[in-house]
Order: sequence, then C-alpha cells, then structure tokens
Amino acid sequence: MGIRILPPEVVARIAAGEVVTSPAAVVKELVENALDAGATRVEIEIRRGGIDFIRVKDDGVGISAAEVRLAFQRHATSKLSGLADLGRIVTLGFRGEALAAIAQAADVTLISRTRSDPAGRYIRVAGGNVLEEGSRPAAPGTVVTVRNLFAHLPARRRFLRDPRVEAAEVGQVVGRFALAYPEIEFKFLSEGRVRLQTAGDGQLRSAAAEVWGDSVARQLIEVGRVVEPGRLAVAGLVGPPTLHRPTRNELAIFVNRRWVQNRRLYAALEAAYVGIIPAGRHPVGVINLLLDPAEVDVNVHPAKAEVRFVYESEVLTAVRQAVRDALKAQGYVPDLELAGVGGRDGAQLAFGLESARAHPEGSGRLPRLRAIGQFEGKFILAEGPDGLYVFDQHVVHERVLYDAFRRALAAGQVETQGLLDPAPVELTPQETPLLAEASARARLKAAGFAFEAFGPDAVLVRGVPALFAGAADPATLFKEAVAALSAEDAAGGSWEHRLAARLACRRAVKAGDPLTERDMQDLIDRLESAELVSTCPHGRHIFRRLPSQYLASAFGRT
Ligand code: ADP
Ligand code: MG
Repeated sequence: MGIRILPPEVVARIAAGEVVTSPAAVVKELVENALDAGATRVEIEIRRGGIDFIRVKDDGVGISAAEVRLAFQRHATSKLSGLADLGRIVTLGFRGEALAAIAQAADVTLISRTRSDPAGRYIRVAGGNVLEEGSRPAAPGTVVTVRNLFAHLPARRRFLRDPRVEAAEVGQVVGRFALAYPEIEFKFLSEGRVRLQTAGDGQLRSAAAEVWGDSVARQLIEVGRVVEPGRLAVAGLVGPPTLHRPTRNELAIFVNRRWVQNRRLYAALEAAYVGIIPAGRHPVGVINLLLDPAEVDVNVHPAKAEVRFVYESEVLTAVRQAVRDALKAQGYVPDLELAGVGGRDGAQLAFGLESARAHPEGSGRLPRLRAIGQFEGKFILAEGPDGLYVFDQHVVHERVLYDAFRRALAAGQVETQGLLDPAPVELTPQETPLLAEASARARLKAAGFAFEAFGPDAVLVRGVPALFAGAADPATLFKEAVAALSAEDAAGGSWEHRLAARLACRRAVKAGDPLTERDMQDLIDRLESAELVSTCPHGRHIFRRLPSQYLASAFGRT
C-alpha cells in the first residue's frame, strides 16, 4: 500500500497528543517504522544521549523515490486507509505523524531505497521545511538521521535531562524491542560503543541474555498458554520467585509485540507471585500477549503505550494463570490454591486458603463442623458444609479460654480454685508499686486470685482462677496477672483483655500436644458458640477454609 494522507474523519478519531518528547521517544518511533517495513536488521546509534545525534538504519522495504517527500507530511501513512482499519491495527505505526513531528523538532535526513528502485532517494527536512532532495546511491532499506533535537524549540529543550539519563532510557527502549523481536538483529551504539547486540536467532532466551545478562536468562522459566488459537495466547519467560528486583525495569509485557504500560496487566502478572515473592519486590520476565487485533484498542494514547482490551478480565486471568502454571510446574507454588487469587483480595488469599476474616459470614458464627483429625500435631482438620477447615489448635484453644474468661469476668463470676499449698510469691521492684493500689488488688480478686500480703514485698497466693489452674505454677499465673495491670503491657487494650490474653495463652494446648478426636470436636464446638471467632486474642488467624467449590474445580468436578 502506498503512502496517503489520512482522510479527516480518520484523523479526527486518532488519539491526539505529542509523540516526540525525548530522544527515547524518537528512537521508539523510528524503530517501529523499521519493524513495520519488515526489517531483519536494525542498527541504532546515538551521541550525547540522542540529543546531538540519532541514526536508525534498517534493511526493510524502503520508501519509493516518489513518496519520500510525502512521508514527512502530517497524517501521511501507508498503514491505514479507512476507519475500518482503525479497529484492527496490525502495524506498530498508524498515525502518520512521527516523521512529520520529528522533522518539526529537529534536523532530519532520510535516505531510502526500495528493491525495485535503481538508486536511493535523499531528503533533508528541518523545522518542517524541505531543504534538499535528490538521488543518492544507497543499499535497499532506510536510514534516518536526526540531529540537534529541539535545537529550535527552547521550551522543549529545557525538559531534556542529562545525556546519560537520556542514553539509559534509549537503551531501555532498544532492550524492549530486542525482547519483543528475538528474530531481528538489533545493534545499539552510544558514544561510539556497542551497548547491545542481539543475534536475531529467534530465541527469546538468547535475546534475554543480551538484555539482562546470562545468569538471569539461564534461570528464566517458560510460559505458554493458548486460551484460543488465533484469538488469545500468552507466551514468554519469567523469573523464579527467588529472582526479584526493587523496580519493574526488568519486567516487560507486550501486546502483539507492542510494549504496553497498562497497570492492570502488570498487576495480573505479579499476582501470580503473590505469597511467594517478598512484598514490594518485583519479578523479572517478558510476556507477549497474542491477541486478535480486533479485540485490542491501541488508539488510546499518542505514544501508543496504553491499550484497551475488549475482554479485559479474560486477558488478565490468562496472564496470571499462564505465569502461575509455569511457576507451579517448577514447584514454586503451593498445591492448595484458590481459583480467583489475584483479585483485590489476592494478597490476603496468598496461599489460597480462605481466612476467617474473608469468611462469608464475616466475624459471625461458624457453621456446624465435624473434626476429622489432627495434622502435624499442630492443626485440627474439620469438615464443614462449605469446605474443609484447618484450625491452629493452640490459637483455637486460646480463643475459647479467652472468651470464657471474659464472660465470667464481666458477670463477676470467676471461679477460684483454692490451693492446698498456698504459694509465697516475691515481688520485683516493678511489681510492688502495681500492687500497692487497692483498686489493683480488687481487680486481681475479681479475676479469681485469692492472696494476702506476706511481708513488705511478697504475697501469699491462696487461690487462682479455676479456668487456668494447672496452666502453670500459681506464682507464674499471679505474675502474669500483675504484668497485665501495667498499662505498658505489650498486649495493649483494656486490663480485662490483657489479662485474659495472657492467661489463655498460658493454658492453651501447644503445637505438638496430641489431641484425641473428642478433644478436637470439643474445642471446635466451644468455638462455635463463641461470639467472635475470626482471630485469636493476639490477632492471629484461628482457621482457614478451603472452599468446596475450589476443591471441586481443582479436581475437574465443576
Ligand atoms: P506511521 O508509521 O504512523 O505510518 P510515520 O510518520 O512514522 O507514520 O511514517 C510515515 C510513512 O513513512 C509510513 O507509513 C511508511 O510508509 C513510511 N516509512 C517511514 N519510515 C519507514 C522505514 N524505515 N521504512 C519504510 N517506510 C517507512
Ligand atoms: Mg511510524
């Protein structure tokens, strides 16, 4: 298709905005043109971060002598003809604006030759004006040279950063092209030195080795998922969870080989790592989404960096699952996984077991549960109407004791168990003043402790709360209670809360304590009648639920 000026109705539909904002933006547009021209080799050279000099050379189809001048007109393109094409863009460019905009902002020369033309055509355009045009010997392909970017536009020149920063950004852009097009040979030079050179062997891993280094490339895991042939597929390489970075600089997502910035896409990819990569860190990888062009809109951003999907949630799910499956195949993902991880609750559902907090009944009551057995001496497994429940035996017991004690305390009915052998307890210099107050002594008595003074800094304990008797020796229990009197107690909250939490923790079964089936059922039954079941007094989870639907779908029984 020849170059034509787009009709006004198409121009009106094209996302407006500036494309030539930096050397990296110029390089991006010129490399896109080379790729659209079917190049197999693309060489990029810059000097002083691209501010002084940018040259992009390709071996693509070239521009015919008759069209070279037209290519610099605004809205002149060979890639789009009517409105219909706008809904199915298959090229990187389509706006017909890049060359015109670059020639407005800098001094541009272009030499191009098609395979059928006997000689090349040369043109020099600066500040939007054609200064020279003529015939030149040239190899097939196109060479565009951009000099003195923004020299005549002081407002924009002011936004240029240090040449090293600009050069680094150009390097990022070229690196992304190298990852998106492993079958193309890219060579990038800055200040006369080769900074990147790819083999163009079609192997994504070898392109990744050039861009990120051998050691990263060797560790990358293959991702591949075809949702529907010709319509939606995900392919690429991602790092293991052990490879993580403080930024997303080594994470690139392409849609039909166009680099995109869509935040939700990156979030979907990273959701596959939830729970297996440290929070706040980012994985490494390159993902290419292959999508029916009719189902993606690239005409939403002047630099074409944002895209919109017709079926966004399907696309996001495909990315997350493709990556998750790849990680799982390498053994990086725990077996228990909830379909739907990665949504807004992704972090909370990290390992796929629904937590009490996320329970549909909120902090309400538990359904009827049947204890099935003990696991690892730490957990109680129970069957419920809506799934498999896993309880932490220490935490569940602590909660039961805590609630019972708080209820008795509130009702003024804490039972005391008298000691056959009253226990003398020496008080530390910190404890003595806590006990000096009559109100403090009254609190301890209400809590079930019976005691009397025993010299200036000791007490004789004659009874302890029956609920906690046997948890520890009477002196230890008494000292726990005194510690709860202190407002600085780490448990925080009211005195009643601090006391109940401390004593319950002492009395509760520990990890490793064997439990009979009856003990377990008893614990769960008592929890069922507790009013607030979601967390232990310290805020830890009491149980997690593996929903029935998840199990059904995991085994293909949906
Ligand atoms: P667009 O890429 O959106 O069409 P550009 O201004 O970037 O607009 O380019 C205008 C036209 O010039 C292109 O449509 C293409 O026909 C031609 N062109 C530009 N660069 C090249 C190149 N490197 N090789 C072949 N043709 C090119
Ligand atoms: Mg273009």
